[in-house]
Parts: sequence; structure tokens; C-alpha cells
Amino acid sequence: MSQKFETVIGLEVHLQLKTATKIFCACANQFGEQPNSLTCPVCLGLPGTLPVLNRQVLEYGIKVGLALGCEINPFIKFDRKNYYYPDLPKAYQISQYDFPVAKNGFVMIPKEKGEQKKIRINRAHLEEDAGKLTHDAVGTLVDYNRTGTPLLEIVTEADLRSPQEAYDYLQVLKLALQYLNVSDCDMEKGSLRCDANVSIRPMGETKLGTKSEIKNMNSFKAVKAALEYEVIRHTQVIMSGEKIVQETRLWDDNKQTTFSMRSKEEAHDYRYFPDPDLVPFVVDQQKIEEIRNSLPESPFKKLERFKQQYKLNEYDATILVQDQNVAAFFEECVMIFSDAKKVANWLNGAVLQELNDRKIPITQIKITPVALAELIKNVEDGVVSNLAGKEVLKDMLDTGKTASQIINEKGLAQVSDQSALTAVVDEIIKDNPKAVTEFKSGKENIIGFLVGQAMKKTQGKANPKMIGEIIKRRIVDA
Ligand code: ADP
Ligand code: MG
Ligand code: ZN
Repeated sequence: MSQKFETVIGLEVHLQLKTATKIFCACANQFGEQPNSLTCPVCLGLPGTLPVLNRQVLEYGIKVGLALGCEINPFIKFDRKNYYYPDLPKAYQISQYDFPVAKNGFVMIPKEKGEQKKIRINRAHLEEDAGKLTHDAVGTLVDYNRTGTPLLEIVTEADLRSPQEAYDYLQVLKLALQYLNVSDCDMEKGSLRCDANVSIRPMGETKLGTKSEIKNMNSFKAVKAALEYEVIRHTQVIMSGEKIVQETRLWDDNKQTTFSMRSKEEAHDYRYFPDPDLVPFVVDQQKIEEIRNSLPESPFKKLERFKQQYKLNEYDATILVQDQNVAAFFEECVMIFSDAKKVANWLNGAVLQELNDRKIPITQIKITPVALAELIKNVEDGVVSNLAGKEVLKDMLDTGKTASQIINEKGLAQVSDQSALTAVVDEIIKDNPKAVTEFKSGKENIIGFLVGQAMKKTQGKANPKMIGEIIKRRIVDA
């Protein structure tokens, strides 16, 4: 008997907020510093100290909530999530339990044929991060620098129906978050972490199956692979007549498998209760509206606008909006050189290639939109060939000089001077009598060969279009 199953997935994303200081103290919110150097009595959890909420953290939380279409809870309250672990000096984590800063939002993910699917966000709440344990041969070391790092946990409803949808959701979410500039959103560096909950159920069943929760993935690809692995495992367990046990599992990237970390029986009862050190308060509606009005255009809106306003195709527009700084560069460039398609080609092609090779963002390059527009104009006017233009771009990025400067200094301008070109053509005609005869007898393709000879003679500096015309004229005239 073969039974069809449906996959059900819900994701929890932990986003590290890049504020200057930690969530409840004045310690710097930074990485890679000397272990335990960024600590104080508050984040070390010493008795008698009091946490004070970082206003910026709250504003970032509201900002993300609004960008994800959430309702904002103006009533701000923090709770203690109690458990004991060496990386948690207070033996509780300050989090938000029953009043998350944001709830009931959504993200639209792409489906086939230009359609979209709505993935609901259940909640987004603020909390502090724990410290970091390192295990080595001698023992375990603890670094409390990360203690008190502000996190926003974004939890979906169980709306995702395949590992691919989970992957797409993460892509769309990450881009939306990047636009807000509140986090580095880098999964490899741990500033974006994802726990994936997955279960299966017979097709048509409305009740949820028993889930497993997978942790420890360090890329979106790993999230997808871990989910694929789990779906197969769940199916095999259920098909063999056994039951899935609810548990937390870890992903092993080397083996590409998951393994059990702890089962539900070992799960903690966190004994949440309101943190008496942090008095609840209400955020002014006016403040929330202020933040709403400060939201940048969303990547989705920008994509639609780029297609409309600049008549770009889906592909070009999609690449441009992947980085809002690239998108802004594009728009400034188009203000000067109005052929949007050409600008998009240069940016999405040669420029992005160079940025990748140099491993720098567009905000750190030595050329301005004005300078790129000037380069494109030089190519379009035939001053330099497309190929030479790409070399000029490299030079521009290396030196910060303008295209004209480089073209002049290196003598790269195509020779478009009629008499100079005619002299070259006459020489070519003299040196290649066979080809000329063939051309005269109707083998018109041979002109490519002759143009090639002329280009060689001028070290590629001749304007090929003009050369072709002159050759025809000289042969016919002769
Ligand atoms: P927990 O208390 O175990 O953390 P939550 O109810 O907070 O569970 O849900 C965490 C995430 O798991 C949410 O994204 C939710 O949609 C998802 N989820 C809950 N139950 C299931 C299930 N049976 N199958 C798949 N995902 C689930
Ligand atoms: Mg949870
Ligand atoms: Zn501190």
C-alpha cells in the first residue's frame, strides 16, 4: 500500500541585531574581541544589577515587525525563561513570552508561473543571546562577550509545504531584512540562525503530525538538505508502522544527516514569568508611525517598480534588487545614461563580476554612477569597443580614474578617422588579393576575414563597423 504524505514545516529564525551596545547594558555589541572583554556586571548576571532596555533594539524590533506586515504590540513586556547552563550566568534568559513585540505578519514567496504564496508570521519577539562555549582537549571554555547580544526571533506558522519552500522563504526573508539594515543577516557568521520544525501527515489530514526540530545548520542550503533528510526519515519511520518521537535533532553537515540531541521528555519546562526588573511600558502610537514612515521601499515593491518604470525584464530587475545599494547605483546611473537595459547589463554583468572577484560591496568601489554612465556612453558611441570597455572598467576600479582619462592615457580610442582607416584598408586589399577576388565573385562573407586583418593591423583599435564599410567601398570603387 502506498500512501501519499504532505510535508509541513515551520521555521524559527534568530536574527542578531547590529546595535552599538547590548540589549540590557552598555557593553559593545561586537565580535572577534578578546574573550570576556566585553562584559559588565549586568551581562555577567551579577547579583544586584539591573537591566535597562536598549531603545535601539526596540526600534529595530518594531521596524522588522512592520516590514513583515505584523501588528505591533505597543505593550512592551519581558519575561524570564528559566534554565541552567554554563553559557547563561543568570540561569534565565530575558525574552518575551506572551507579548511579542510583533505578531500576525506574512512574507510572500515566489511560486511557479509568477504566482506567489503567503507564509504567515506567527510572531517576532526580542530576547538576549547567551554566551559561547568552546570545547577543547583540556575542557570547556566560556566567552560571555555574546551574552546580552540582542536577538529578534521570527517564527512562522506551519505554512511551508516543502524544503524548497523553506529555502525560498529564507531567501525572501533575508532580503527583506537586509533592506532594513538592522542585522548582517549572515548565516555563516551566526548573525542569522534558523531552527526548522518538520512533520508529515497523510494527504488530506488536517491535524498536524508529530514534529522534529532541527538545529545547527549554517547555510540555507543546509536547512534545505536537513529538511529533505528529515522528510525521508519521517516517511520511513511511519511507513514501517512506527511512530515519530518529538525531539530536537542536530544537523551534521559532513555526514549530511541529522541525529538526536534530546527528546521531548528531556525538554525544559522554562517556568516563564514576568521579569520584575523590567517594568512593562507602552510605546506611543506616534513613535510606531514614525518608524513605519521611515521604512525603505521593500525589495518586492522595488522589483515591480523597476519592471514598470525602466521596462526591465524580470531577470534583470531581480538581480538589481538583490542589493539595495546596487539598485540605487542603477537608478543614479540611469538618470545620466537613460538606456536602462544597457545600464542593467553593465551592472549585472561586468560590474557585479568585478565586485565578486574583488570581494567588495558596491558601496566600497572607486567609481560613481556618473563615472559608470560615462564609460557606457563611450562604448555606445563607439569610442572603445565593448571588450576594451571592460578593460577600462577594471582600470577605473583600480585607480578611480574616469573612463575618458584611461582611454586617453592608454590610447584605447578606436580609430574612427576616415583617412587613417582608408590607408589601412588599402594595405589590406593589396596584401590579400585572393580574398578580394573572392569577394568580387560574390563571396561576401570573406569581408569578415578582411576586417579581422585590419583589426589586427591596428591592434584592435579600428572601428570595425567603419572598416567594413570602407573595405566594401574601396573594392567596389577599384
Ligand atoms: P515549540 O514550542 O516546540 O518551539 P512552537 O509551537 O513554538 O513549538 O512552534 C515552533 C515552530 O514550529 C513554528 O514555526 C510552528 O509553526 C512549527 N510547528 C509547530 N508544530 C509543528 C508541526 N507539527 N509540524 C511542523 N511544524 C510545526
Ligand atoms: Mg519554539
Ligand atoms: Zn554588559
